Amino acid sequence: MADEPLSIAAAQQLIASHCSLLPAKAIGVNEALGLVLAEEVIASGDVPSRANSAMDGFAAMSGAAGRTLRVIGESRAGQPAQVAVNEGEAVRISTGATMPEGADAVAPIEVVDDDGANVTLRDELMAGRNVRLAGEDLRAGDAVLAPGRELGPAEMGIAVAAGRAELQCVRPARVAVVATGDELREPGAELAPGELHDSNLTALQALVRSAGSEVILASHVGDDPAATASCFAEALNQADIVVCSGGVSVGPHDHVKAAFIGLGVEERFWRVALRPGRPTWFGSRGQSLAFGLPGNPVSAMVTFLLFVAPALRAIQGRAAQTTRSATLGEAIARHSDRDECVRVRLEGSQVFATGPQGSHILSSMALADALVIIERGEGSLAAGSEVELLTLQP
Ligand code: AMP
Ligand code: MG
Repeated sequence: MADEPLSIAAAQQLIASHCSLLPAKAIGVNEALGLVLAEEVIASGDVPSRANSAMDGFAAMSGAAGRTLRVIGESRAGQPAQVAVNEGEAVRISTGATMPEGADAVAPIEVVDDDGANVTLRDELMAGRNVRLAGEDLRAGDAVLAPGRELGPAEMGIAVAAGRAELQCVRPARVAVVATGDELREPGAELAPGELHDSNLTALQALVRSAGSEVILASHVGDDPAATASCFAEALNQADIVVCSGGVSVGPHDHVKAAFIGLGVEERFWRVALRPGRPTWFGSRGQSLAFGLPGNPVSAMVTFLLFVAPALRAIQGRAAQTTRSATLGEAIARHSDRDECVRVRLEGSQVFATGPQGSHILSSMALADALVIIERGEGSLAAGSEVELLTLQP
């Protein structure tokens, strides 16, 4: 443990060095959104499985315009025709329905004269016209998705097309969220003087869920050493990551660090040269990670995004966030000895601070589109400087 506050990057590296990939588990494909694939998905059959029609019309043998064909049956989606097509014959066919034997093209409804029993083709019908071939999308045995792939809607859809109902995925992280503080009351409660609503417990749970992780426990504890320790003991037994807010400074009513340490969590760092978010604490016990985030609502969210979110991504097998850059629309003063995480709104490719940046001003977080880090130093970072945007999406 260092006495000096760590840089943001050093703190992130230390956290990363304690992250290990969670085990894989079979997940119903419908529940796999945002998870990371832990196996290769192979197409179980051709997709489409049979040649089928791209149009509503008539399946027939290719040939010249002006032919009149006898309609001998129908092929509907899911109900192929039971007949084969010969010269002078056609089968009424729907989009997606299997091509009948003998037919090699489909004349769309719009280009035939249909009297119910016969159709006359107004145009020449070229071989292969409006026919989708078997295996045009996927061939049986094709490697469709590789391990490590993050599953979005298209990946989930193609896994189903490839024949899968379940996928081996890195399991979502189990996260316990704890808010400490005697002054906190549940949402909607009447407040006595000095009390406030516990906004962190809600915001932190939402961040966990936005990271594709599960909240397995969400509790409030008062500023009491025994209550804090028993809550953490339960949390550490069930969770991959325990995220706690408040109680992490050096006041007489701050019990978080001692409670974690008393439960065998080893302190890895305490304090980061960051504003807001200086008194951030991080420890680990085996594979379990523990974060003591500062209590002020913006500090809690910023430190979650900077430190907890990358850990969740790492253990869930997701790649690090890609960042994009923007330019400062106004000069922003530098803090002398801490890097400042500034809430900004985007206007085109320019960013502007959202207003007062106090660590208790949640309204300026709610107005923000992104965060930017203004490195510590003298003076200010000039308007027009290039900055990296940190997303608010974990
Ligand atoms: P602490 O880090 O415990 O000293 O908390 C710093 C300040 O953050 C407290 O005085 C509260 O005003 C505020 N705070 C702490 N926990 C919460 C919470 N769960 N929800 C909203 N504000 C909080
Ligand atoms: Mg407190």
